[in-house]
Amino acid sequence: MVALTPMMMQYLDIKKQYPDTILFFRLGDFYEMFFEDAKLASKELEITLTGREAGEPERVPMCGVPFHAADSYIARLIEKGFKVAICEQVEDAKASKGLVKREVIRVITPGALIDASMLGDKENNYLVAVCPGKTGYGLALTDLSTGVFKITLLEDPHSTESLIDEIERLSPREIILPTGLKISDHLVDTISSLKSTVTTMEDRFYDSLEAERVLCTHFGESKVQASGCLKVEHLAGAAGALIQYLSATQRRKLEHISEIITYKTVSFLVLDSIARRNLEITKSLRDGSKQGSLLWVLDATKTAMGGRMLKTWLDQPLVELDEINRRLDAVEELNNSVMLREEMSNALNKIYDLERLAARAVYGSANGRDLSALLCSMEKLPQLHQILEDCSSPLLKDICSQFDQLEDLRELLKASISESPPLSLRDGGLIKDGFDPEVDRLRSASRDGKAWLAGLEAREKEKTGIKSLKVGFNKVFGYYLEVTRSNLAAVPEYYQRRQTLANAERYITPELKEYESTILGAEDRLVELEYCLFVEIRSQVASQVVRIQKTARLIATLDVMLSLAQVAQRQGYNRPMVTNSSEIVIIDGRHPVVELNLGPGAFVPNDCHLDDKHNHLCLITGPNMGGKSTYQRQVALIVLMAQIGSFVPAATAEIGVVDRIFARVGASDDLSSGQSTFMVEMFETKQIIDKATSRSLVIIDELGRGTSNLEGMAIAQAVIEYLHNSVGCKTLFSTHYHELAELEDILPGLKNYATAVKEQGDNITFLRKVIRSQASKSYGIHCARLAGLPNDIIMRANQLVEQLEFHQRAAQEVVAGSKQGAQTQHQLTLFAENPLERLKSDITALNLGNMTPIECLNYLYKLQKEL
Ligand code: ADP
Repeated sequence: MVALTPMMMQYLDIKKQYPDTILFFRLGDFYEMFFEDAKLASKELEITLTGREAGEPERVPMCGVPFHAADSYIARLIEKGFKVAICEQVEDAKASKGLVKREVIRVITPGALIDASMLGDKENNYLVAVCPGKTGYGLALTDLSTGVFKITLLEDPHSTESLIDEIERLSPREIILPTGLKISDHLVDTISSLKSTVTTMEDRFYDSLEAERVLCTHFGESKVQASGCLKVEHLAGAAGALIQYLSATQRRKLEHISEIITYKTVSFLVLDSIARRNLEITKSLRDGSKQGSLLWVLDATKTAMGGRMLKTWLDQPLVELDEINRRLDAVEELNNSVMLREEMSNALNKIYDLERLAARAVYGSANGRDLSALLCSMEKLPQLHQILEDCSSPLLKDICSQFDQLEDLRELLKASISESPPLSLRDGGLIKDGFDPEVDRLRSASRDGKAWLAGLEAREKEKTGIKSLKVGFNKVFGYYLEVTRSNLAAVPEYYQRRQTLANAERYITPELKEYESTILGAEDRLVELEYCLFVEIRSQVASQVVRIQKTARLIATLDVMLSLAQVAQRQGYNRPMVTNSSEIVIIDGRHPVVELNLGPGAFVPNDCHLDDKHNHLCLITGPNMGGKSTYQRQVALIVLMAQIGSFVPAATAEIGVVDRIFARVGASDDLSSGQSTFMVEMFETKQIIDKATSRSLVIIDELGRGTSNLEGMAIAQAVIEYLHNSVGCKTLFSTHYHELAELEDILPGLKNYATAVKEQGDNITFLRKVIRSQASKSYGIHCARLAGLPNDIIMRANQLVEQLEFHQRAAQEVVAGSKQGAQTQHQLTLFAENPLERLKSDITALNLGNMTPIECLNYLYKLQKEL
C-alpha cells in the first residue's frame, strides 16, 4: 500500500469527524475539497475538478475556491441543503515546524446561519429538534441569527398532527431527529414540501440527564429550572439535543442565546396547517410567496426585526382578551395621530437589524460597516424614547419604561468607529481620529511620510531637470522613482536601478528606502493596531448582546404596532370590539387581500352574524364565482386580525374570541397530490370533528364533491348535523347542494344565506352580496359560457339540464310517493299525454350512475304499476 502524504492523512482524519459535510480545507489562500466532496462540489458549484498528488498512484480529485470569495460558494451549497465544515490553519504557517495544525472552526448548516447574505431579512431561520416521548413530542427551536430559543410540548400521543402543524408554522430550514425515529408518511411529506434539511443524531444526545447537564451549563441552572423543561423527559431531550448540535457545529460560546422560553400552542389561537394554507396567512396558495397573503397586506414594517415579529404574530394570534386589547389600544393611539406616526416612522426607518448585528458581534464576524450600522441605529434611540414618553396607551408606556437606550455603547461606537469604514478589517481606516493616541501618532507619521514623498518628487525633479519624474509604489519593490526612457541620460549616479519597464526605468535611493521603512512600518503598525482596537470594541458590544436584543425586541413590537396603524389608516380599517362573548357580528366586512387587489371601491362589503343560539351555522349557497369562498375567508381573516390586535376591514366588528379556526376548501380546489382528493377531504373533516370546540370558528367551503352526488350530499348533511348538534362551533358552510337548505326547518341554529345574482334575459350579474336567502340555481352553464366553451356545448348542456331536472323531479316524486302512498293523482298527470314517448325519453335520460339499486328498483316498480 502506498503511504498518503501527511497532509492528506490530516485531511482524512478531520473528514472522518465530519462525514455529512463538505469539508473546506484551508490551504494557503484557498479552501480545497478532495475526493467525493470535490466531485460533488465541482458539480454543484460548476468549478473545475482537478487532481493532487497525495502519495497514491492516482492523483486524488480536488477542487478549490479562493478564500476571499468563499462566502458566495458556501451560500450556494447551503441553499442546496448541504452542510459545509470550515477547516482552518490554526497556527502560523511560518512558525510551525512540519505540518500546520488545522481544525474545523465551524460547521455551517442550513439551520445554523449567521451571515446576512444567506438569510431573508423579514424571516426567521429556524433550526428545530424533535424528541418523541410517551405523551407526544418535545420540540426545541432556535434562530441562531437572532438568538431566540424556545421549547414546547406537542401532546398528541397517537398522531403526529400537532407536531406537523407546528413544523409547518415554523418552516424550519433544518430538523434534527433521533437516528432511529420512525416518522409518519405525512411528516415525511411535510418535511420534503418545506425543503427542510434533515439531520439525525444518535439517541444518546436526547438523554435527559445529559440534557440537564448541557442546558444548565449553557443557560444556568435557574433559567433551566424556571423553563420547566426538566420535568418532561422528551422536552429536555429536544432542548438538550439542540444545544449539543449547536455546540458541535458552532464551536464557540453562544452568548446571544441566553433565554429559554417555554410556550404552549394552545395559549394562542390554534391554526392547523390546513387553515394556515387555505386562509393564505403568510403565503399565497398560488405560488407560496408573500404576495397575495394577509401578511403582504399588513406588512408596512420598517425594520427587519419588525417584519419577523409581524409574521410570528400572524402565525400565533392571541386568545387572552387583555393582551389583545393592550395591542389594540396601542394601534388606536398611533392611528389617531398623524404626527406620532410620522415621527416614529422616521426614527424606525434608520434602524438596522439590531438582533442580527448583535449576533454577528458575538460571532466575531461583524465588520466595520456592521458596527457603523449599529451606531446609526443607536443614534435613533433617544429620539424614539422621547416619542414614547408622550404616549399614553399601556403597551407603549411599557415599551418606554423598559427601553434601554444603550447610551454607553452608542458613546463608545461614536467615539471609536470611523464614519465610513471599509469592508475589510485588514486595510485600516476603521478607527476614528482622536480615539487612541497611538493610532493618531502612526497615522500622522504615515501622513508626514507621504508629504515628504511629495516633497521628494519636487526636489528630485528640480535636481535632475527631469520633468516627468514620478514617485510611485508597488507591493514588490516598495517606493521608487520612475524615469521615462527618453530622460535616462539625465539620471544621476546615486539612483539605483530596480526595475525595467517597456518605456521607463524605476530607481531607488538610500534616502527613499529609509523613509519607506518609516512610512510602511507606521502603516503596518497602524493597520494592526486598528484591527486590535476594533476587535476589542466589537467584543465590548458582544458583551452587551442581551441588552441589545431586548431593545431590538421592543423596537420590533413598536414597528409592528405602527405598521398595523398605518395599514389601518391607508385601508380604512376600524377597531374591532373584542370580547369574551360568543358572538361575531361584522357589519360591512371586506376581504383584506381581495379588496386590495380589486382597487378602491370595487369590493362589495358584507355582514356576518354568528352566535351560539340561532345563528351558529350559516349555510351558504349560490352560483360558482358568486363570492362564497371570499366571504367565508373574509370572516375568518377579520377574526384572526382582531385577535392579533389589528384593526379590521369592516365598518364595525364585534368579535367574541375564538380558540381555533379551521378552514377547509373543496376537493376540486385542493392542490395536494398523492392521496385521493376525497380521502384528503375526509381526513380534513375528521380533524375538524376531532378538535373543534364550541368556541371554534369553522369554515367549510364545499364538502363531498369527491364522491357521487348522493353520497356527497349525505356526508355534507351528516357533518352539518354533527357540527350543529354535537359541537356547536360557529360554522360557515358553503355548498352547491341546494337541497340542504331545507335543513333550516329542522336545525334551529342553521340559517340559509346566498350570494345574490341579478338576471336580465341571458345576462347574469353576480352582485357579491350575501343575503338571507337560498339559491335557486347554480348558473354553472353561465360560468361555462363565460369561460368560453363552444356554443354547441353550452346549448347541449342547457338541453340536458332541462331533461335531467325534469326526471329528477319525477324520481323525487316517485320516492316521495312510495312513502306516502297518496301519489296517484300526481302520477296520472305526469303520464297524461303520450305516455309511451315520455317513457322512452325517461328511460334514456336516467342517470343510472347516480342512482342506488333501491332507487332503480323503486323506479322499475313504479313503471310496472303504471303499465
Ligand atoms: P365562489 O366561492 O362563490 O365560487 P369566489 O369567492 O371564489 O366565488 O369569488 C369569485 C371572484 O369574485 C373572486 O375572485 C373575486 O374577485 C370576486 N369577489 C368575490 N367576492 C367579492 C366581493 N364581495 N366584492 C367584489 N368582488 C368579489
